Amino acid sequence: MDNPTSDSAALVLDSVYRHYRSGGTRLDVLQGASLVLQPGEMVGLVAPSGAGKSTLLHIAGLLEHPQAGQVRVAGRDCTVLNEAERTRVRRSHIGFVYQFHHLLPEFSALDNVAMPMLIAGAGQKDARERATELLSQMGLGERVTHQPAELSGGEQQRVAVARALANAPRVLIADEPTGNLDPATSLAVFGSLLEATRKNGVAALVATHNLELIRFMDRVFTLGGGKLVRRD
Ligand code: ADP
Repeated sequence: MDNPTSDSAALVLDSVYRHYRSGGTRLDVLQGASLVLQPGEMVGLVAPSGAGKSTLLHIAGLLEHPQAGQVRVAGRDCTVLNEAERTRVRRSHIGFVYQFHHLLPEFSALDNVAMPMLIAGAGQKDARERATELLSQMGLGERVTHQPAELSGGEQQRVAVARALANAPRVLIADEPTGNLDPATSLAVFGSLLEATRKNGVAALVATHNLELIRFMDRVFTLGGGKLVRRD
């Protein structure tokens, strides 16, 4: 790849191809999609339903394989890794936020955020300290013992963001992170998400239909002809 800044990049998609076959037809979704995300940068993805946003996010998040092209996370070519290695890279370097928070209902906010760290091998004390700090960063310092049902929709989504950042990922993949919130809450939660990614030096790739949010992003892309095309 001839981009001189790609070495320091958190995430590189280099000419990624992905098609699906169903019945006798072949659907070409990604046809040479390329993107370089630097640490601390937030990039938006805005495209109509069916354009291939989920496919792109799944490939960037190492949840799906491209049929051609390269995906590099923190400088490592992930297309040559086996499944166990890909899972390791995903767990340590990539955080995910979805439209619905997917928090564990019977656990507190603190436990939900600490859990990925404990799974990754952190000690209880360290995990709880970092979880408390991340929740405070998200404006939830007073809510750490609350269970998800005791939190508002915006607060639940803030916990989900804190959880996604728990293992200090290099990359955050967010699929409609405020899609389930009212406009004012969307803006507030998005503001915290943006601040947290900047502060933690995380590169964020955010798919959204909310055009209010894209003016805060560093770059915005759409999908056209299977490629990522600058929109701004
Ligand atoms: P978006 O997230 O932008 O709505 P998707 O990435 O989900 O788009 O899907 C892009 C296209 O690929 C759609 O036409 C969808 O129907 C098709 N598609 C997605 N996943 C599969 C699959 N597993 N098998 C067949 N077609 C699929």
